[in-house]
Amino acid sequence: MMPRESPYPLVAIEVARQLITAQLSPLATEMIDIRHPAALDRVLAEDIVAAAAIPPAPRSAVDGYALRAADGLAPRQVIGEITAGGAQLPALQPGQAARIMTGGLVPPGADAVVMVEQTLEADLTLTLQRAAPRAGEAIHTIGQDLAAGEVVLRRGDTLTYAAIGLLATIGCVQVLVARRPRVAVLATGDEVYEPDADPGAGGVRDSNRYALLAAARAAGAETISLGIARDDLAVQRAAIQDGLARADVLITSGGVSMGTRDLIKPLLAELGTVHFGRVAFKPGKPTMFATVELPAGRRLVFGLPGYPVSSLVSFEVFVRPALRRLQGDRTPERPLARVQLCAPIMPSADRPEYQRAVVSFADGQLVARNTGAQGSSRLLSLRDANALLIVPAGIQRRESGEMLDALLTAPVREDTA
Ligand code: AMP
Ligand code: MG
Repeated sequence: MMPRESPYPLVAIEVARQLITAQLSPLATEMIDIRHPAALDRVLAEDIVAAAAIPPAPRSAVDGYALRAADGLAPRQVIGEITAGGAQLPALQPGQAARIMTGGLVPPGADAVVMVEQTLEADLTLTLQRAAPRAGEAIHTIGQDLAAGEVVLRRGDTLTYAAIGLLATIGCVQVLVARRPRVAVLATGDEVYEPDADPGAGGVRDSNRYALLAAARAAGAETISLGIARDDLAVQRAAIQDGLARADVLITSGGVSMGTRDLIKPLLAELGTVHFGRVAFKPGKPTMFATVELPAGRRLVFGLPGYPVSSLVSFEVFVRPALRRLQGDRTPERPLARVQLCAPIMPSADRPEYQRAVVSFADGQLVARNTGAQGSSRLLSLRDANALLIVPAGIQRRESGEMLDALLTAPVREDTA
């Protein structure tokens, strides 16, 4: 028998997101070495404070001559040379100067550096080919780049390449980060084939598992592929249990709708707790979220729909923020922007819709157009998208010029359309 109505109430997007967040607890932490390639994009689990000032002593900002500004334009006696990393010279007396290279320690007594291009040196006598120097000129002062005790990175920051540079600068090579979440992805469906197989007239290639594995990795996860499970209760139960045993988070694709072979929700109700079974949004209404308590810890299960666009949009809206939160990211959500429609769209009137869109800059303003036909199976609608346009329910047509919110999933560029 095919039931005519889902036993699961439709919950609002915000309610669904709260139900997920309520089940999250941060992952354990571990020490990593910032010199390792795998440090990139990890999320810090501690604040990082600079122990010492950078630079720790006054240094030259240019190649030139360290001298005393008070000597004005008078010729100076060159008493030596200071290289970067070389020894400090004794104090400069009035009328003296020293050759100094970029990064060289400014000797006591000197209070300015004049760049070599503005000088002449002959027989150890320096003359300036410019106006009199100002005290402090071309000197990198103590702490100019970083003060001692300054917080350079905060818990929840992501280790970008700049962050890795900062940590190296202050000599902080071992840092505490969140463990990466382990995410297992299972595809379901008798019609689903490996991408290198011929699916025949009734089949589809498994795009979801590979796209979701990649999306999970892009969100910072380690991934486990669980293959394709036939639409059979015992087969899917075994595959789910395998995923639960090996991962913190299980993502399934397909099998969450109203068909007689949609088995994921009953299976999760049997194995754990289903927190919601449907969401009032498009695309991805059948999206389900459950938890399973194991001796090894709580597992999160996201049952995503089979249609490729639905599964990836649901991933963006529900799974990605959860994966970022698990890692302690201070900004787990995609940035939100207010954008102006530059062409009319025909969204769903009965549910909020997340349309795939291109947001760009035009005349100093963020504008958006959707990526064409928004069918749930048309993966091409995601290809050029850099945003999900959030279209509230209730109105069948949105006109050019209307303002809407958009989640930015990739950088915004100048309008080239
Ligand atoms: P379902 O949610 O299981 O009813 O699946 C809905 C539709 O999504 C199926 O008819 C397929 O066309 C498609 N589909 C299901 N699983 C996948 C998958 N792993 N990759 C690509 N498309 C899929
Ligand atoms: Mg199916």
